[in-house]
Amino acid sequence: MVNESVYNELMKKYRAHYGRDPEVIAYAPGRIEVLGNHTDYNEGFVFSAAINYGTFFAASKSASKACRLVAGDLMKEVAFDVTGIEASKTDTWQNYVKGTLAGLAGVKAVPCGFDGLFLGNIPLGSGLSSSAALEMCTGLALGKLYGITVDDVTLAKIGQKAEHMYAGCKCGLLDQISSLAGQAGRLVKTDFRTVAYETVEMGEAACFLMCNTHAKHALVDGAYNTRREACEQAAAHFAKELRHPVTALRDVSMAEWAIYKRGLSDTVANRAAHPIGEDERVLKGAELLAKGDLPGFGLLMFDSHESSRVLFENSCEELDAVVDAAKKIPGVLGARLSGGGFGGSVVVLVHPRDAETASIALANAYAAKFGKPCDVSVIKPAAGAHIVK
Ligand code: ADP
Ligand code: MG
Repeated sequence: MVNESVYNELMKKYRAHYGRDPEVIAYAPGRIEVLGNHTDYNEGFVFSAAINYGTFFAASKSASKACRLVAGDLMKEVAFDVTGIEASKTDTWQNYVKGTLAGLAGVKAVPCGFDGLFLGNIPLGSGLSSSAALEMCTGLALGKLYGITVDDVTLAKIGQKAEHMYAGCKCGLLDQISSLAGQAGRLVKTDFRTVAYETVEMGEAACFLMCNTHAKHALVDGAYNTRREACEQAAAHFAKELRHPVTALRDVSMAEWAIYKRGLSDTVANRAAHPIGEDERVLKGAELLAKGDLPGFGLLMFDSHESSRVLFENSCEELDAVVDAAKKIPGVLGARLSGGGFGGSVVVLVHPRDAETASIALANAYAAKFGKPCDVSVIKPAAGAHIVK
């Protein structure tokens, strides 16, 4: 079992706190974004992976409408009623659980409360999506407890709605889908037009380093919105210029971009080239993985970062420094910023035998430039969310 020690700790804490064994237990992992940056809202493609860090949620039915919920890492308890699920301003971790419960209750009436406890080992707020993991293990555990069956995409949307309505984060669906669909040694390839996904073999010769710079640049929301607007403006332009239907940048190829970009400002044209190029890189990446060509896949990751840096301008000094350092480290196959950009993390593709030395080299190179090291975690594509008991 992945994360067996966390599971054992969860059981110990559940028994100590509630004086019995839980009726159900579910597990959900965090995720990394591997290739396909800012493609989701352009209805394009993303490569992601579920990771070998995750969260367990254990629960039993309670005798009334009352719910007790314990954050096992903090050993803090909150209480609320299933008949009045509202977001809370304190102990905000409960909002991910409440939002997910509210989503399930929207599918079928919840008959009673629960005694719940969750515990995990995903670093919080570091771009590995501990929040989606919490929603997905909650959804699976409480769905099982109450006999509410939903398919994966519905559960992912319940988690997304919990983020929007209860946690105040306007996220897409990538985090939840990746947590649900991941498999050991495989990447998840999602088509964000149809929300259809498949997994693709990555093999034993690959793992990732997630390098969190903790950099957070001002105006992140503003910059995100202007990027989105530029993509929409470009899509409207190509819809007029091209003969085939264009409802999003997904429908435009790089070749078409080069011919029909005239009439767009240089900035808007460059912004559009990023998700268009990313879509092509994801599709190319799938072909390379099918042939077992990891070095080729790594080069696409470097290209992706270059496109972020030059065309989309969602990189920053800290992220560029990690990618530049990665290029010089033996055994590193690829590196790019992961997630929205303007700070945050870099994902690095490396052979598992080089992971340890590359981690140290990256942290040192970062410290030499910025005075303190970036945090590096070794990540393996691992099993997706599932019921444990
Ligand atoms: P990320 O999803 O990248 O880790 P977020 O800010 O979206 O960052 O979510 C982090 C929040 O999720 C935490 O601040 C906390 O409220 C909640 N959370 C997730 N997992 C746990 C956990 N195991 N224990 C307590 N809180 C958790
Ligand atoms: Mg999150």
